[in-house]
Amino acid sequence: MTCNRKGPHGKRCGGILIERTDRIGRVLFDCPRCERREAGVCATCPRRVRGMVGRAEFCESCYVRRQQQLGRLRKKEWRREYRERVPAIPLAEAGRRAGRSRARNLSPERRQEIARMGGQAKWARVRARAA
Ligand SMILES: [Zn+2]
Ligand SMILES: [Zn+2]
Repeated sequence: MTCNRKGPHGKRCGGILIERTDRIGRVLFDCPRCERREAGVCATCPRRVRGMVGRAEFCESCYVRRQQQLGRLRKKEWRREYRERVPAIPLAEAGRRAGRSRARNLSPERRQEIARMGGQAKWARVRARAA
């Protein structure tokens, strides 16, 4: 069972409840998550929370780690969506596209120079084989 109380962001707390029986036999439910938040203790370590007691859930370092974790998850999710939206292209085709794009960005002189070097290298190979 999870906690129905209002959590820090106006949403339901959702912490896992712990069942407990008091001295006169009533069954009570404790929410460690709410207790920690109300006491100003970090949710994942014994340090004090960063920010307002009763709202903040994590200490400075746990908060940073949590944000990084969420960021990674979001990135992963985005990548998955992207792969679904954009069909994969074969590696050879990707190489051709990259080559054309690089050629477009070069100056005509530089492009000529590269073509000349390529031609010379090719003839060097042909001559080496003939010799
Ligand atoms: Zn709770
Ligand atoms: Zn912490």
